[in-house]
Amino acid sequence: MKFTQTFIPTLKEAPKDAEIVSHKLLFRAGLIRKLSSGIYSYLPLGLRSIQKISDIIRRGMDKGGAQEVLLPLVIQKDLWEESGRWQAYGKELLRFQDRHEKWFTVGPTHEEVIVDLVRNDIQSYKQLPVNLYQIAPKFRDEIRPRFGLMRGREFIMKDGYSFDRDEEHANKTYQKMYDAYNWIFKQCGLNFRAVEADTGTIGGKFSHEFMVLANTGEEAIVSCDACGYAANREKAEIGYETSGSAAGSTAEEVGRTASPAPPLAATPGMHTVEEVSRFLNVPPSKIVKTMIVKTDDGFAAALVRGDRELNLIKLKNALHADTVELATDADCVRLAGAHGGSLGPVGLKLKIVADNEIKHMENMVTGANKDDFHYTDVHAGRDFTPGMFADIRNAGAGDACPHCFKPMSITRGIEVGHIFKLGTKYSVKMHAEFLDENGASMPFVMGCYGIGVGRTLAASIEQNNDKDGIIFPMTIAPYEIELIAINMKDKDITDTAEAMYNEMSGRGFDIIYDDRDISPGMKLKDADLLGFPVRIIIGSKFKNEGTIEIKIRKTGEVITSTRQELFEKITAIRKSLLP
Ligand code: ATP
Ligand code: MG
Repeated sequence: MKFTQTFIPTLKEAPKDAEIVSHKLLFRAGLIRKLSSGIYSYLPLGLRSIQKISDIIRRGMDKGGAQEVLLPLVIQKDLWEESGRWQAYGKELLRFQDRHEKWFTVGPTHEEVIVDLVRNDIQSYKQLPVNLYQIAPKFRDEIRPRFGLMRGREFIMKDGYSFDRDEEHANKTYQKMYDAYNWIFKQCGLNFRAVEADTGTIGGKFSHEFMVLANTGEEAIVSCDACGYAANREKAEIGYETSGSAAGSTAEEVGRTASPAPPLAATPGMHTVEEVSRFLNVPPSKIVKTMIVKTDDGFAAALVRGDRELNLIKLKNALHADTVELATDADCVRLAGAHGGSLGPVGLKLKIVADNEIKHMENMVTGANKDDFHYTDVHAGRDFTPGMFADIRNAGAGDACPHCFKPMSITRGIEVGHIFKLGTKYSVKMHAEFLDENGASMPFVMGCYGIGVGRTLAASIEQNNDKDGIIFPMTIAPYEIELIAINMKDKDITDTAEAMYNEMSGRGFDIIYDDRDISPGMKLKDADLLGFPVRIIIGSKFKNEGTIEIKIRKTGEVITSTRQELFEKITAIRKSLLP
């Protein structure tokens, strides 16, 4: 492709709303343009990169036994009512009516559509497994679209869904997809990690997120260098060498006061851990936070150390609940007699789940269930008895690994892919069944597998850039090679460049030729910004010595070549830059 024949509107300035480097560079290099909040157009270069990522995904998925389909974007309400998600999905679901006033949605994900497809056409176990995927736009009315392609409202996703006859087969399919994802992200040239994610009711190691490591990532990854354990923060377990046995007991007992109450201290207007800590001159690690939560099975109280964060997902799992949310202030007053910030376990008539760490704490400060008062010198077991000790807090740097007890560390990541065993959640609700060997009707055992295609492009730029611009990995660069003729007024140079461009394109090299009649400085600046991996420069050296310069964007290395050696050298360089 010649520069003058394509549309690459590069810019000096990034848009004002661009906070992270990938958003700035995608815009400045002319890969995307914004239409409205979270909605983007892909320009020729952006689309080329998206197509290369998509092709890698196709190869990986196909190798893993999946097949590509294309599903409708607009989906009728009835299907979403069958799964129960028309109500449950919330405001991210864009809903609209057609001319007959029938309700529809623009699909944010396609479980309903695929289940409908498969239940109508697959009758027998002999037709299984089925594993189908598509690469297509999705729409989610995100509450805070931001960071360009990272969190859009309309975005391109690869979504795949598998159907198996039983758990065992479904687990094998899951493993194939796990392997395919590792291959795909490696091919994309990313530095990534597969981390365990929450599986809800499924259990086991059947949900993994694929995280691109980057400081700007929205997700925290907890990992152990010693044994390789890695999980997202929602899921990451914390090792307790001595107190493990306590977790898993049931929360039937309620907190009770076992005579006499601990010392009471007035803490007027002090509600946060920081305020109480300063006022009573005790470190936050000596304070216990009490939070009342509402579950589908009633109310409960959760206790964590003042310097820790409650993890609602872990709490939900510990309580075997389907839903858990923080109780309203009005509920706190009604159930405990005090507002949030003055709650405590002593005398509280609720199920109490205490974080494992609290088991060994002494002289704790807790709220007194009386506004503006705290108890000091509280002891678990003496002043209150939790129904259960469990791991219910977020892991932090330095916490012990659940497998080898070595200290773990925290890194930030961008979730580019997510694989999940769904089990029979959708097939049971939507009556998607097949006949097994004995002629019995069985629900399909499903898995689902997503990749954010645009997010993968953004994440790659987040990881590969410098002050001058993008540094594309070879496999997903819009073009692998850029040919630059330094002086378009010099016929020798332009003739050579033109001939070389024709020959290289003819030989199948993925090349773009900057044939614009602009200053060399501007061409080189744009080349840095656009970040194609290999640059061929025909300039003064060619005039004087007959040599051509090859520059590698990533390392800055310059290699001199004669015209005769060029193809051989470029082929070798190209190969050395592949994953
Ligand atoms: P997140 O926690 O980031 O909102 P999610 O759990 O909602 O992600 P999934 O439903 O698992 O995401 O979607 C599969 C993949 O689609 C994600 O791993 C991510 O790469 C991508 N994705 C999800 N939401 C967006 C979005 N708003 N913009 C761009 N890509 C997205
Ligand atoms: Mg989401």
